[in-house]
Amino acid sequence: MIYNRRDFLTTSALALAGTGVMRVPLLGQAAQQSPPPIVTKFEDIRRNVGMFSGRGGTIGWLAAPDGAIAVDSQFPDTAAKCVEGLKGKSPKGIAMLINTLYHADHTGGNSAFRPVVKTIVQQEKCAQLHKDFTAKNNTAAQQAYADITFGESWSTTLGDEKVWANYYGPGHTGGDAVIVFEKANVVHMGDLMFNRLHPRVDLPSGASIKNWISLLEKVAGRHKDATFIFGHAKAGMPVTGPAKELLYFRDYLTAVLDYAQKGIKSGQTKEQITGAQALPGFPDHASSGQVLTLAGVLTSAYEELGGK
Ligand SMILES: [Zn+2]
Repeated sequence: MIYNRRDFLTTSALALAGTGVMRVPLLGQAAQQSPPPIVTKFEDIRRNVGMFSGRGGTIGWLAAPDGAIAVDSQFPDTAAKCVEGLKGKSPKGIAMLINTLYHADHTGGNSAFRPVVKTIVQQEKCAQLHKDFTAKNNTAAQQAYADITFGESWSTTLGDEKVWANYYGPGHTGGDAVIVFEKANVVHMGDLMFNRLHPRVDLPSGASIKNWISLLEKVAGRHKDATFIFGHAKAGMPVTGPAKELLYFRDYLTAVLDYAQKGIKSGQTKEQITGAQALPGFPDHASSGQVLTLAGVLTSAYEELGGK
């Protein structure tokens, strides 16, 4: 699991306790209660395209009289609610599911879509990573894998909308796809976009901060006036936004690489570099849980630059 709202809530409660805003005995009581129910929400963006939030990466969707398409599937519980809602919006059913990447908070709910969709689409590296990772973790039986894979680009038409899945090389993982609803001019970035959150960089799967920086610039340039859907955002920040947010995140990742590079050049140890308290120029990026931290992203930058 990469990031979920429960992790975030736990972290927030601990952070509040640390500031003295919430007293520790209260936190103890809260921990004994069952976790709050997960709130799910459908929101329209435009031209029958919208998003669904629950737990895990933001789901994008197209729901038209001719059928529906979902982008990403979160986890089985919230995926079931998404399937139910999309069936209500599109009486002809859900034609297909596209995954932007292999992580469990984007593919874990594929099994809930499997009985109702004809096709699951993934970029070929994403498909390989999904199979390898779940086999290694003994969770293959709970998965639903791709029926269609593509290398650089793939497209389909549903009603009067044209949908594209494009691959720009490694970024957050070795196999992230950018999904474009051409007429609606809405682009789903998956986890190539974290809004004001320190991202995970999945180096073992082939991720690259360097290429991530250039792909954000390419995508922002190609879809200048689009509305983008982001995989994740800091609490209180939107999971959609304009192209300039991609360029802001590009600048953040550039600052991460520069910081690690300067540290290596000046002879700092890995501990000194990754122990930074803040990233100069980007104090607005927050941590979440144990994985999405400044230390985490700086460690990835250090390793990508060849530091041991
Ligand atoms: Zn994610």
